[in-house]
Amino acid sequence: MDLFEYQARDLFDKHGVPVLAAAIATTADEAEAAAREIGGKVVVKAQVKVGGRGKAGGVKLAENPTDAREKASAILGMDIKGHEVRTVMIAAAAPIEAEYYLAILLDRSNRTFLVMASVSGGMDIEEVAHTAPEKLAKIPVSAVDGISLAKAKEIVAAANFPLDVADQVADVLLKLWEVFQSEDATLVEVNPLVKTKDGKVIALDGKITLDDNAEFRQPDHEALVDHAATNALEAAAKAKNLNYVKLDGQVGIIGNGAGLVMSTLDVVAYAGTKHGGVRPANFLDIGGGASAQIMADGLSIILGDKDVKSVFVNVFGGITACDAVADGIVQALELLGDKATKPIVVRLDGNNVVEGRAILAKAAHPLIEQADTMDGAANRAAELAAK
Ligand code: GDP
Ligand code: MN
Repeated sequence: MDLFEYQARDLFDKHGVPVLAAAIATTADEAEAAAREIGGKVVVKAQVKVGGRGKAGGVKLAENPTDAREKASAILGMDIKGHEVRTVMIAAAAPIEAEYYLAILLDRSNRTFLVMASVSGGMDIEEVAHTAPEKLAKIPVSAVDGISLAKAKEIVAAANFPLDVADQVADVLLKLWEVFQSEDATLVEVNPLVKTKDGKVIALDGKITLDDNAEFRQPDHEALVDHAATNALEAAAKAKNLNYVKLDGQVGIIGNGAGLVMSTLDVVAYAGTKHGGVRPANFLDIGGGASAQIMADGLSIILGDKDVKSVFVNVFGGITACDAVADGIVQALELLGDKATKPIVVRLDGNNVVEGRAILAKAAHPLIEQADTMDGAANRAAELAAK
């Protein structure tokens, strides 16, 4: 899960990373009040989970509370790369002397953590990384040792931080490591980390990605979820522990195993080109144990999607054999009753396929059609969706 800047700022604050006073606002009134509370010059910053807000006009300095109100009303409602601005953060403005860059991330390809650091931070860091890669120091950090004071000093030296800020930057690194480790993050980025005119080092913009796999041991993180942005069907699927992603097509997809579901999306998209361009409506992996309840949960989510015109159930029987899956489908349709309204094409293959197909044939449910092959089923489901 990616966090908003203000949430990252709060986590920084919690772990002692230096930040400035700030508050969030969803209306111009609130923005003005927040600016008055903070006092002096402030920055009004769009809260969207996308980079480059500054260049898109989503970060503006305000001289006083009235100015903050005007800047906030200009920024609220703005569209930044497809993200609507619903919240702004009002933060005390810093007199900036230099902008640096610091990030700690999970480097999957090298199976390690990595620190990236540069004294050329700010809005053009991507450009710097491309045109002058030597200005971006990259230092691996072992998961066992983490960032000690000695390691922090090594990083500060490798990135050529000026001597007058070296100790402060090393200290920020230690605290960012604490954020990274204790919050179970896969990315903690500060851009810019600034030196102010009076020589203080402060994190002015933060980005944090939390590791969803660690959710079970981070109960506080539930409060950080942006429920307004979560699709209603995805939220319902999550509540039922289903692996569901909403897509923009018309053929609902259910399969067992992520790889099979992904290839099902491909064959449906391909078959759809022959039927007016229909496309898969979702990704749904029901995993290994395709019980009647899981099948019913999956079908009810998919049938609840008003864009869905037909459903393709693609199962390869393994440990859960085809007859168990077929039983699951039949019982699921009984559970759903007249909530099941759309044609369902089923392709079973693998363990106990003969028994499985016989069960579906015997049930003779009016909505169910069987197909022998994955391509054949994809084509039929696409054809039904196009009708
Ligand atoms: P981003 O474009 O989404 O990365 O947004 P940032 O929060 O990093 O802000 C972009 C730029 O705005 C920074 O690189 C700074 O140059 C400038 N900026 C942000 N906060 C302040 C501030 O408090 N004072 C001043 N003078 N400039 C700021
Ligand atoms: Mn930034």
